[in-house]
Amino acid sequence: MTCPFQYQVFLNKKRSYRELPMRLGETSTLFRNEDSGEMHGLIRVRQFTISEGHLILRPEQLAEEFKGCLDLAKYCLETLGLWEDCSFRFSQWDPKRTDKYEGTPEQWNEAQSIMGELLDTYLGRDNYVIGIDEAAFYGPKLDIQIKNVFGKEDTIVTIQVDMLLAKKFGMEYVDRDNTMKTPYIIHRTSMGCYERTLALILEKYAGALPVWIAPTQVTVIPVVADFADYAAEVTKKMQAAGIRAELDDRNEKLGYRIREAQLSKVPYMIVVGEDEMNSGSVTVRARTEGEGGKFSVDEFIAKVVNEIETKKH
Ligand SMILES: [Zn+2]
Repeated sequence: MTCPFQYQVFLNKKRSYRELPMRLGETSTLFRNEDSGEMHGLIRVRQFTISEGHLILRPEQLAEEFKGCLDLAKYCLETLGLWEDCSFRFSQWDPKRTDKYEGTPEQWNEAQSIMGELLDTYLGRDNYVIGIDEAAFYGPKLDIQIKNVFGKEDTIVTIQVDMLLAKKFGMEYVDRDNTMKTPYIIHRTSMGCYERTLALILEKYAGALPVWIAPTQVTVIPVVADFADYAAEVTKKMQAAGIRAELDDRNEKLGYRIREAQLSKVPYMIVVGEDEMNSGSVTVRARTEGEGGKFSVDEFIAKVVNEIETKKH
């Protein structure tokens, strides 16, 4: 993990309570020596990229910062269309096993009640499960889980409260009353591990990605070579508007090129011939029904740009 590197940023100079919370984020490459039997497509890999962050905070800032982490995860997962498929697991300590957990019962109870209260209002008590004795020894956590196509649950996002590590790393801040205090840390991801999240998106949409994340958003196909110049002009106009448009003017039959674009799940296919060239329009075949038809080039560009900007599912 990259946690200790981010702590060094905090440790770089003397810190005051006024500087907290300090929120650090980075995209990092991590490694896990998973057993070969555990590895699974892009979902469980040995090298991965993670959207990682550490929040260094005063203990009394826990409620606000924990909520901020939840807001961020919700924003990312909602945007990707995955939030509705998520379930939530709140991992707590076991008060009977104080030998296993660091920190005082007061710290644990307080942190857990702050998190629990927030989860009750945020998700509703029926919408998360509590795992007793499933916390890390240094603090309670929230796991956001999602099922893959085989029905196996994987964790997509973790928000881990940490009441201990700051002490071990000698992290302190000067509080209002001029005494030195130890901060809390929250380890969090926003959209999780890129490889796993990507795998889950591919599974969810069965490859038919929403327009805004489709690698190719529009394929432009001239009916025959005579209209290839017009098709190229339309393609360039779309690219200039920020659309990932591609021209397919290969010397192949029209049906073949249409079928290929369909199989690669390109959201929009545009077919242009004499009619379209003369009227400055495009005929659209959409991947989803009801979105096709004839448009002026500008109309169609505006429609696609709007879908990209609003990140339409
Ligand atoms: Zn960490």
